[in-house]
Amino acid sequence: MSKVLYEKDIQKEVLQGKKIAVVGYGSQGHAHALNLRESGYDVVVGLRPGKSQQKAEEDGFQVVSVADAVSQSEVVMVLLPDELQTAVYNESIKPNLQAGNAIAFAHGFNVHFSQIVPPEDVDVFLVAPKGPGHLVRRTYEEGAGVPALYGVYQDVTGQARELALAYAQGIGAARAGVLETSFQEETETDLFGEQAVLCGGVTSLIKAGFETLTEAGYQPEVAYFECLHEMKLIVDLLYEGGLENMRYSISDTAQWGDFVSGPRVIDENTKARMKDILTDVQTGQFAKGWILENQANRPQFNAINAKENQHPIEKVGRELRELMPFVKQPLQNKNKQQK
Ligand code: NAD
Ligand code: MG
Ligand code: MG
Ligand code: MG
Ligand code: MG
Ligand code: MG
Repeated sequence: MSKVLYEKDIQKEVLQGKKIAVVGYGSQGHAHALNLRESGYDVVVGLRPGKSQQKAEEDGFQVVSVADAVSQSEVVMVLLPDELQTAVYNESIKPNLQAGNAIAFAHGFNVHFSQIVPPEDVDVFLVAPKGPGHLVRRTYEEGAGVPALYGVYQDVTGQARELALAYAQGIGAARAGVLETSFQEETETDLFGEQAVLCGGVTSLIKAGFETLTEAGYQPEVAYFECLHEMKLIVDLLYEGGLENMRYSISDTAQWGDFVSGPRVIDENTKARMKDILTDVQTGQFAKGWILENQANRPQFNAINAKENQHPIEKVGRELRELMPFVKQPLQNKNKQQK
């Protein structure tokens, strides 16, 4: 466990007195900016005019154009949507970076897949929280943090690693643990994890379970509670204490069913397909498809998104959650259909 670093292992001085530009004020951006400020750092927010600008100003930040934020700062954290980073980088960030500055990312996608090629005279690092931005903020406020990976792509000042660590500490990640990685490892594991397990894997598992029950004639409400609502309660137990803790809490009947039926759902064939997904990530095949999809204004993304929102589990879920107001979180902006 010696590789995981905590607050006591990190020097804050290297980042103190440096101005930090947080570019973007969405899920990650608002969390980084607020946490860094409360950790005592000097933050300016770089944005185009719009909803995020209003929110950042309401939170008391000085908001300027991306170009101005970069010009004013020594450290630039790029928290724009991955698919827009290259254009904004070329137009507003690159021309305003100075030798010896640092440019940073929360995901290695654009650097690793050569969409952004940073100049040779700046430090390049990543600090990638392993959790959604809203939790990066909420846990910080609670005195805790979300763990993060950090990595150095380019070190011209000799301080890039220390800068990355101080930054990770500033957003609260070192309270939970900070682990060194490379841009390659972060990018490939992040893409694989969200596709095969966390997002793609889980939504497909939930839908398949719901469809199996409703197609067999069971009530959609019952299927919703069983396959979606209860997922959170099970995941909380996993988060708190791993598989053993979850299995301790469920009935032995459920645990026996877990042992005999789990491997029938996720078997060697599933794993072989996971390997294919990983290969597509590693070869850049996935990245290429996503980059081209954006260049074409997202025809497939939008079509699939519209269809998914009409799935019966979404309809019954909306009705049931209306009656459970305590469950409902404010829907965090998004509007991802329009680029
Ligand atoms: P987001 O979509 O929530 O927010 C993007 C922000 O960029 C918004 O404030 C938006 O107004 C702003 N923006 C968009 N276009 C702009 C432009 N042209 N000029 C200036 N500002 C513009 O993005 P996000 O989900 O926070 O993702 C940011 C980065 O963090 C990505 O690299 C992502 O992979 C990474 N990341 C995200 C999460 C997460 O929880 N969402 C987790 C880990 C890493
Ligand atoms: Mg997002
Ligand atoms: Mg991730
Ligand atoms: Mg990701
Ligand atoms: Mg049950
Ligand atoms: Mg038990």
